[in-house]
Amino acid sequence: MATLEITFLQGQLEERKRRLEAAIALAPQNAGLAGLLREVDLALERMGKGSYGICEECYESVEQERLMADPLVRYCLDHLTQPQRDALQRDLDLASEVQRRLLPQAALRAGGWETSYHYAPLGPVSGDYVDLIPTDGQLFFVLGDVSGKGVAASMLMTQLHALFRSLASMSLSLGQIVKQANRVFCESALAGHYATLVCGHAKPSGEVEIHNAGHWPAIVAGRGGVLRIESTGLPLGMFLEGEFSATRLQLEPGDTLFLYTDGLSEARGTCNEYGVDRITCLVRQQATRPPAGLIAACIDDLRAFVDGSSLQDDLTLLAIRRHS
Ligand SMILES: [Zn+2]
Repeated sequence: MATLEITFLQGQLEERKRRLEAAIALAPQNAGLAGLLREVDLALERMGKGSYGICEECYESVEQERLMADPLVRYCLDHLTQPQRDALQRDLDLASEVQRRLLPQAALRAGGWETSYHYAPLGPVSGDYVDLIPTDGQLFFVLGDVSGKGVAASMLMTQLHALFRSLASMSLSLGQIVKQANRVFCESALAGHYATLVCGHAKPSGEVEIHNAGHWPAIVAGRGGVLRIESTGLPLGMFLEGEFSATRLQLEPGDTLFLYTDGLSEARGTCNEYGVDRITCLVRQQATRPPAGLIAACIDDLRAFVDGSSLQDDLTLLAIRRHS
């Protein structure tokens, strides 16, 4: 493990030791506290000897994200005891339930727009993020992907969800929303975690303001043809300062905006990746269908492309269409 992480975890352990000692001074009869203090002391001892973060069963490294969440972890995921496995499963089930409840309303219609999305985590939880927030007669949309996997990524996704929910209701410009979300995310996310995303406002007039922060191209399709909205900014959480410019588009009745995560663009077929060209082509062909039909066609095509193999990543799709 890198020195920076060790220093961070050592600080975490020393802080816990101080807290435990203070709590024990107030409640000396509490055997649970004394047991925890012993574990913290043993972890600090392992740190001194250089054996910290090594699984006591197989001597391989313990997963770093688990150490960050609980610096007392002593076994890798493969070598948990049955009660530890059961406890982990309960945590994952709960995290999964929390995440499921954060999803926006299915088939939401707002401000002259109809929507449909598909959200399919690979495991119990996902770092994929999708939200639809109707505010002041317009629709705020966001779809993104937090780096990393598992519970840590899913918790960062929850944080982004809360951030955008709050900022979207504050009558800020799109640039200000993304700038503020980036600052708060930067200051609170773990180092090395960031999020690529596409977000924007869809107005009743058909005007769409959109920002792509390091994410895959958004695709707009309609009678006027197909357009890709490429990234013009860095992912959120990389740098505290950043400029976030918005692109303005005019969508006509029946035009559709399509967003997706790498579960689609990087899906592996027998000899190549699904890729943005195939997505663009599919959206062009299916552009006249309502959002739910476009999403269904996309999932069918993805299934045909992977030809029976299972998907390797979280998959999120979002289609937003101006009422015809
Ligand atoms: Zn192990």
